Amino acid sequence: MNAIDRMSRAKRSISTLAPMVADGAMLDAVVIGAGWAGLGVSHALVRAGLRHRVLERDRIGATWRTQRWDAFRMNSTKIQTLMPDDTYDGPDPDGFMTRDEFVALLEDFAIRNRLPVETNTPVLKLARDEEDSLFCLTTPRGTLRAGHVVIASGSQNRARRPAAAAALSANLLQIDACDYRSPAALPKGAILVVGSAQSGGQIAQDLIEAGRTVFLATARAGRMPRQYRGKDIFVWLEQSGLFDVPRQMEPSGRIESRPLVGAIRTISLQSLSAQGVVLLGRLTGVEDGRLTFADDLQDNIRFADEASVKVKRKIDDYIARHGFEAPAAIEDPAETVAPRLPDPPILSLDPGQSGLTTVIWCTGFTGDFSWVRLPGVLDGRGQPMHQEGITALPGLYFAGLESPRSRRAGTMLGIAEEARRIVEHIRQRIHSAPTKPPRRDERQPLPTSKQLVEAG
Ligand SMILES: Cc1cc2nc3c(=O)[nH]c(=O)nc-3n(C[C@H](O)[C@H](O)[C@H](O)COP(=O)(O)OP(=O)(O)OC[C@H]3O[C@@H](n4cnc5c(N)ncnc54)[C@H](O)[C@@H]3O)c2cc1C
Repeated sequence: MNAIDRMSRAKRSISTLAPMVADGAMLDAVVIGAGWAGLGVSHALVRAGLRHRVLERDRIGATWRTQRWDAFRMNSTKIQTLMPDDTYDGPDPDGFMTRDEFVALLEDFAIRNRLPVETNTPVLKLARDEEDSLFCLTTPRGTLRAGHVVIASGSQNRARRPAAAAALSANLLQIDACDYRSPAALPKGAILVVGSAQSGGQIAQDLIEAGRTVFLATARAGRMPRQYRGKDIFVWLEQSGLFDVPRQMEPSGRIESRPLVGAIRTISLQSLSAQGVVLLGRLTGVEDGRLTFADDLQDNIRFADEASVKVKRKIDDYIARHGFEAPAAIEDPAETVAPRLPDPPILSLDPGQSGLTTVIWCTGFTGDFSWVRLPGVLDGRGQPMHQEGITALPGLYFAGLESPRSRRAGTMLGIAEEARRIVEHIRQRIHSAPTKPPRRDERQPLPTSKQLVEAG
């Protein structure tokens, strides 16, 4: 069955997902969010035989439906873009899924595994009943109680903008990467893309290929070629264990950005420049209505080049160490093409004179956890504090988060192992807990998700 068939089948059956359990019902676990992280954890909970629900404020895969542009492609190859226990047997293992294909994959996974997802059910408040230590989840459809909660509500679905955004003229349209859809959806005129990691690089390419005038404010972001020595770079990263090495921390305390890697083919600052994107240094601020940029473009290009060389050397070492047969490296035109850099460098830009009408902020994301009302769980920035998904509050977990521990964490390539680990922790807590007589509202058995799906 192809992805579009899967999508329409999923659409037909999605209304049969679980209805809301009784107000006040008590569950072993509640998972918040039905992206790949929440669905992966739910799958592991089903396998462990634990009574749970997945509460999703919108629809399955909401972030992918509403926060990705039309031409978006996944970065991992199709054969790597798998939910737990799934395999890929299609005709295009080295291809890259579109946004809609990926949403179809998530819906299909939920239906096929009969996961108890309750869509259109936002968790408005997560608190804890101090008397019995149960978590209380407030939703518009009632309150649920659970011994365990896994927050899988996403750590990359709230855009971050630098302070300079507030100082820009009201005549400029400002949007975030998550609101960008297509070149045609933007007003006429030049566009400034701020940030040159994955989103910024890919969006700048989408725009220049549509014939738009594009300025790109660059940053210190690494780069990887799409293909190297006969294989996709992600296949090498996975095979060699490079996906499992720790990531660097930035001076700000944040994890470094992921390197720019084009979906389908390599994108570099040089290749964007050769295509006509006007490259600038880092955006430093706004002075008298003019945008100002650091004189660090050459440093940013060098940083990306060095990152690419480093990853290629590591793959060479891996191939040599294991004596694998692999084709010799061939030059990637996107990495060797001569850039057409502004000379002298552009250090300030007048929006009116340069015909600028739109600014797209590709300056990173965080998660929105403002509804979590639990002590000792969020840091000063309102972001999760945890050790590999396990928090200091017994019974509370986060799934799907980026981690300095590895490049795999925070991508769907990490969910099978993460879900198993979290659910095993929950299972052990349940089995080691002293047995208590059930409370009044616990006595009535909940229908199984199978019954709910069939009754739907
Ligand atoms: C532009 C971009 C491209 C990316 N490309 C890739 C890629 O190719 N491969 C890859 O592996 N990763 C990629 N990532 C990273 C990562 O996969 C995404 O951030 C991903 O969405 C994380 O999955 P998740 O399930 O943790 O969160 P999400 O997909 O954001 O899912 C969270 C869900 O929780 C729901 N939710 C939020 N708050 C509540 C609430 N209070 N109550 C109920 N529900 C709630 C949301 O509606 C959403 O459906 C990309 C990220 C970005 C920004």
